Amino acid sequence: MKRDLLNLLLCPLCRGRFHLTPGEEHEGDVIEGTLSCACPQPYPIHYGIPRVLPGDLGNEPERMYVRTAKSFGWEWRRYEVQDVKTDQAVFHAKTGFALAGLEGRLILDAGCGGGRYSYVAGIHGAEVVAVDLSLAVEKARELNAQLGNVQVLQANLMSLPFQEESFDLIYSIGVLHHTPDTRAAFNALIPLLKKGDRIAIWVYPRWTPYRERMNRFWRNITTRLPYPLLHYLCLLAAPLGWLTLKAGKTPLIRNVMWAIEKTIPFSTHPDWRIRVCDTFDWYSPQFQWHHTEEEVEGWFKEKGMKEIINLGRLQDAYSPLRGGGVNFVGTKA
Ligand SMILES: [Zn+2]
Repeated sequence: MKRDLLNLLLCPLCRGRFHLTPGEEHEGDVIEGTLSCACPQPYPIHYGIPRVLPGDLGNEPERMYVRTAKSFGWEWRRYEVQDVKTDQAVFHAKTGFALAGLEGRLILDAGCGGGRYSYVAGIHGAEVVAVDLSLAVEKARELNAQLGNVQVLQANLMSLPFQEESFDLIYSIGVLHHTPDTRAAFNALIPLLKKGDRIAIWVYPRWTPYRERMNRFWRNITTRLPYPLLHYLCLLAAPLGWLTLKAGKTPLIRNVMWAIEKTIPFSTHPDWRIRVCDTFDWYSPQFQWHHTEEEVEGWFKEKGMKEIINLGRLQDAYSPLRGGGVNFVGTKA
């Protein structure tokens, strides 16, 4: 971490400022060290990443967190998946932020995963703070290492270690629905945003009752499987995605494949590695909530947001860039 990150940080427990004790430092980047406050236990900085994860991990919700956090770390460190051109297009589609307007703005990437969208914001000149609960932060730091303007932090979205009204823009792409409570996670981000500035979120949509029921049935099993076993099952499912893609010209096969997908969801991404990642991503995390447009719009309204835009409605019913998610952006009043 760069020392100037300290200006934004607060302990999520005692709300006190941190005192930095650097161990190893490299060209102004603190690689190892500790952050201490009034709390008895200091937070470590490890591999250049502050790990602001308070609390003992003994109780039940915390254990479930760990399962979610581990599943993403496990998966995203396994594959190299970055395509900057696509990532830029997706970033723009899912945030509604103009890439040309990012320069010099302080941005929070709430749930950065492997850091691909932080990278997009970073190369367009934004000052990015990228946060994730999982060990994917290490991948995010690696990916953004050559950019001096992306800082990575491991922390919990439900109790982020930042001062209020710190950020010019906040986005969260495909992450809030993996917290114990999507709406609470959204609400926790709003105080961190400056007044008059924008927040964009993308979450999973609610399906038909049949698909929801089937999905719950399968996930009830898969969220308990050991990761290596689940990984191999996802590898086995990769040809299904391929067949679905290739079956475009054969209506019978296409219909059969989509009927299977409605019963057992699998990824149909053109890149087989992303298909495996996406499918794993689907079946491994402890939490996966689905929401309607009305619900999410209601969260924005309840927070008194203005200029609320349903980004999904700006495009076709299903845009490959935007995915099928529920996607809103709004301005803090
Ligand atoms: Zn503290």
